Amino acid sequence: MPQLRSVCVFCGSRPGAHRAYAEGARAVGQMIADEGWRLVYGAGDVGLMGETARAAKAAGATTLGVIPIHLMQREQGKRDLTTLIVTEDMHERKKVMFMNSDAIVVLPGGAGTLDEFFEVLTWKQIGLHEKPILILNTDGYWTPLAALLDHVVAEGFAEPETRALSRMVPDVPTLAQVLRQHLTA
Ligand code: AMP
Repeated sequence: MPQLRSVCVFCGSRPGAHRAYAEGARAVGQMIADEGWRLVYGAGDVGLMGETARAAKAAGATTLGVIPIHLMQREQGKRDLTTLIVTEDMHERKKVMFMNSDAIVVLPGGAGTLDEFFEVLTWKQIGLHEKPILILNTDGYWTPLAALLDHVVAEGFAEPETRALSRMVPDVPTLAQVLRQHLTA
């Protein structure tokens, strides 16, 4: 039997200001199910996290949620996942999510999503892993992030090669296509 491939999704615990963000999150959940992959995420039932997970589950995906004990209430820890892991703290959460994933996808989100993105980016920068990091630029939300990363390189605080450690994609079909290239043996 082929190995189950896992896609880790980092995204906001809020829905954001535009409907397009939730629509994008649902499309990603659906896509992960359609491709026969497992969703790995922060286990919350709020914001884009909830949208992604509900769509993935409704479409039949296997789901793994990882949440620290102190956020079970605030992020409404989702209990109907295939697997729910409750960790002691944030650090353990991120580590468990990362270790159980073959690719990272970043959807619109806030400081927590940025923290998660920069952690896997910096781990990749120092050679700790080679997992693809894909940023879904729903409605141009992450365009300022691309500009910031370009600025960091232009001002000499990172090698130009740093820009190739993550890839921004404009829509869910492109995201699916790029993930397929990485995840299909
Ligand atoms: P946000 O993008 O701020 O809505 O947060 C998205 C997810 O990241 C939520 O599950 C947060 O609990 C989580 N998060 C928030 N802050 C951090 C942090 N410093 N490190 C790791 N995860 C975080």
